[in-house]
Amino acid sequence: MNENKHRHFIQRIIDEDNVTGKFDNRVQTRFPPEPNGHLHIGHAKAICLDFGIAKEYGGKCNLRFDDTNPIAEEEEYVDAIQEDVHWLGFEWDKLCFASDYFQQMHDYAVQLINQGDAYVCDLSADDIRQTRGTLKKPGKDSPFRKRSIEENVDLFKRMKNGEFPDGSRTLRARIDMAHPNLNMRDPVIYRIMHATHHNTGNNWCIYPMYDWAHGLEDSIENITHSLCTTEFEDHRPIYDWFLDRLDVYHPQQIEFARLNLSYTLMSKRKLKDLVNGGYVNGWDDPRMPTLSGMRRRGYVPRSIRKFMDEVGIAKRENVMEIAKLEAILRDELNKCAERRMAVLNPLKIIITNFDENNVEELDAINNPEDESAGSRKVPFSRELYIEQDDFMENPPKKFFRLAPGREVRLRYAYFITCNEVIKNEQDNIIELHCTYDPATKGGSAPDGRKVKATIHWVSANDSMNAEVRLYDRLFSVPNPATSKNFEDVINPDSLNILNECRLEPSLSKVEIGEHIQFERLGYFYKDPDSTTEKPVFNRTVPLRNTWAKLEKQQQSQNN
Ligand code: ATP
Ligand code: MG
Repeated sequence: MNENKHRHFIQRIIDEDNVTGKFDNRVQTRFPPEPNGHLHIGHAKAICLDFGIAKEYGGKCNLRFDDTNPIAEEEEYVDAIQEDVHWLGFEWDKLCFASDYFQQMHDYAVQLINQGDAYVCDLSADDIRQTRGTLKKPGKDSPFRKRSIEENVDLFKRMKNGEFPDGSRTLRARIDMAHPNLNMRDPVIYRIMHATHHNTGNNWCIYPMYDWAHGLEDSIENITHSLCTTEFEDHRPIYDWFLDRLDVYHPQQIEFARLNLSYTLMSKRKLKDLVNGGYVNGWDDPRMPTLSGMRRRGYVPRSIRKFMDEVGIAKRENVMEIAKLEAILRDELNKCAERRMAVLNPLKIIITNFDENNVEELDAINNPEDESAGSRKVPFSRELYIEQDDFMENPPKKFFRLAPGREVRLRYAYFITCNEVIKNEQDNIIELHCTYDPATKGGSAPDGRKVKATIHWVSANDSMNAEVRLYDRLFSVPNPATSKNFEDVINPDSLNILNECRLEPSLSKVEIGEHIQFERLGYFYKDPDSTTEKPVFNRTVPLRNTWAKLEKQQQSQNN
């Protein structure tokens, strides 16, 4: 194992447990999502930790659906979450549902009642809240706190049998209404809810509360280290109290800091509002920080895992830069993405000295980072498209690309010179007339003359039409979570759809799942909205490495 100083605090706790033999040197973790929405990049941190720890110690990790609230949960999410965990690259030991333990949880509750540790309370949710006290003021005992064990057993049974309406009664733990930790002031452990559950149907009309259920789920599954985020730190006493009172197997809860990411909302509820409010086109919209959205956008799962390694595990929360994640993504894509040429905003050029019946097949390298990717042929003909941006009729000083009278290199092809700009009656440029120099085939001139720019292109008649979707940040502020209103912070230009893009012919063979670099434009990923006539590509991320720039700036500031 690594040196101690490189190990995070959870690894050190487990190392220590393995020395003392606390859990018989077993490591069993779980990832416990509530199936009330799709997983987001924040969950990926917990997934990488839960599954990563299990793997590191030769242990096991369960995928457990914490499905104790029938109102919010749906089968659709159960399926999507499994797909997302698999996509991230993890395999669970057991697939578990908290709802499979409803009977056991109920029986444990009866045990608590029989021990005098729980009572049926007739206060409303409001009354319970009002009698709970504050951090400074103790709470008030419920008038039902002294009910006899017999009466509690009977009432709880009748709650379970459906004799009482929603909200009329609860089962509460009898702990201490003056406890300094508010979570310990006789917390509710069961509520009445006549609702159909995705797994148990109408079998139950009482449902367990999180604090009661979670520790039991961990105990039933023989979890050793129950890893959760720091907002549960104040819940650990109640987690421990229940397991101690029941005298059952007792896992250890350990809290770590949640992931926060700049420009990113990270709450299922808020993401659901984005979907329902029509701000995005569904949970898997490529602008969403959901794993399904990131997958559709073209993220490689390894980049997310690597990012989580860099984020690390600690107790203190901070905000990570999304640019950092994108920089790691670029690195990964650079290695695996084959290069192709595509023109997003086409401008036609005519090579006036190239025979119109001729098509030349030129060699193009697929990936300079990976020799085994080989090469392909790209057709070159009299009519080509280049990017509108790569031409200026009156170029400023620092513009080195095509301009009247100027010579540039066409990638993998020849030097061309622009001789004439053809305009329509509205004075808009419709095409350029150029000549090519046949001696510059492959991109260099025998006489040694240089050009200052290389631009990409496609052959007009051989290219295919495509739709390309360019994305920008969904939010225009670094911390959208602090804003009440999406309208105030949403970026109106987060999606730019280009419909008249032209692709080199080899791109007709790309399948969904292949990552491609469009030279000079970025990394792209084919979208499921594609048809055979018209493919649709999402830009995963542009090429420019803003993170490297940011870091450089920071470094120079520090010096
Ligand atoms: P949300 O508020 O988005 O619904 P949650 O915590 O309620 O998140 P759960 O489905 O209960 O969602 O979470 C499953 C696991 O993922 C929990 O262990 C939770 O702590 C962890 N998790 C959720 N968000 C983050 C985050 N931003 N960073 C790290 N872990 C997270
Ligand atoms: Mg939640």
